[in-house]
Amino acid sequence: MLMKDVDFAVYRKNTPTQDGYFGTYGGAFIPPQLVKEFENIYTAYQTICQSSKFISELRRIRKEFQGRPTPTYHCERLSQSIGNCQIYLKREDLNHTGAHKLNHCMGEGLLAKYMGKKKIIAETGAGQHGVALATAAAFFGLKCDVYMGEVDIAKQAPNVARMKLLGARVIPVSHGLKTLKEAVDAAFEGYLNEYEESIYCIGSVVGPHPFPLMVRDFQSVVGIEAREQFQEMTGNLPDTIVACVGGGSNAAGILTPFLNDPVELIGVEPLGAGTEVGQHAASLTYGSEGIMHGFRSIMLQDEKGEPSPVYSIASGLDYPSVGPEHAYLRDLGRVRYTTATDEEAVDAFFTLSRLEGIIPALESAHAVAYAIKLASERPSGSILVNCSGRGDKDLDYVLEHYGDRL
Ligand SMILES: *Cc1c(COP(=O)(O)O)cnc(C)c1O
Repeated sequence: MLMKDVDFAVYRKNTPTQDGYFGTYGGAFIPPQLVKEFENIYTAYQTICQSSKFISELRRIRKEFQGRPTPTYHCERLSQSIGNCQIYLKREDLNHTGAHKLNHCMGEGLLAKYMGKKKIIAETGAGQHGVALATAAAFFGLKCDVYMGEVDIAKQAPNVARMKLLGARVIPVSHGLKTLKEAVDAAFEGYLNEYEESIYCIGSVVGPHPFPLMVRDFQSVVGIEAREQFQEMTGNLPDTIVACVGGGSNAAGILTPFLNDPVELIGVEPLGAGTEVGQHAASLTYGSEGIMHGFRSIMLQDEKGEPSPVYSIASGLDYPSVGPEHAYLRDLGRVRYTTATDEEAVDAFFTLSRLEGIIPALESAHAVAYAIKLASERPSGSILVNCSGRGDKDLDYVLEHYGDRL
């Protein structure tokens, strides 16, 4: 389909379709016993979206608990060090818990509360989603079960401690490779056993319908705020917006409110240590169409359709598929997807820290790296980058491997 077939002025009203399709991507590939429950979730979501009580409650939470709006910031020293093109950051690192993830976790928590659920369930890899969800659970007084591979539990002790401190139960998964893939399966099994009183909270714009839609909508606060802030600061819209893409939630959040604007939109996938299978997690760049985790999208897979091993220095980006809306926006030609390597991200991590006093998450550093590259090729203009999170969580790793640069 060509871009001219899609009217972005009304895009949000009809995308996804009622059954959750973005073009041919998306849908809900779930066990029969869950079909009714997912319909209930969708209906509940549609109802609360129109409820002024829900909307004002979410607004209050964002302002008083999360500290929103987060600022938009002009990186004057960074820009000057490159040339004349101006780089700006949307500071999601200043959102409570230090990343954008809480934006959809609070929305999902509020939905759970509205539906009368007692518990929220999720899996986590590095623990970032688990911590954000445990935070939401504590806020709403909900029980929280987080499934986590034993290997990840051993590696991510601080996040395990945070989740426990916040009152969540961390359930170790001890089969297979004992990492994220097994945790996803175990969490889903757990959910199947108790879906009547719980809700599965997905950590990005992935999973079965309506999660890609709901998570996008909850994250859109990022782009809506940035649009207003940028116009107030400069009188214009940015020429280009750049965001990193793991599952794609922070990118969907900042990019989709600009779909109908004359703004260039770019997603940056992790190229890790190289182009070979297992060395990266650039799903849109190197993947093919398939079904995984309950939805159809572009994914890195082997001949049997099993997810390929993936890698990135940024643990939040090493997911073998990507949200269905990103696959669609790529096919439409509306968003361009490119890559940044581990090395480029680490360089950007150091550069932004030194020139601006902002330590970005290694995930966000992929977007910063690409923005720096673009700015050096352009004589003027402006680039807005989604700084999806803060880098404190990455310090130990960076010091161990790149400490000689200090
Ligand atoms: C989890 C995470 C990401 C990647 O997730 P998306 O759904 O692609 O946004 C990016 N940045 C940070 C800081 C994260 O914690």
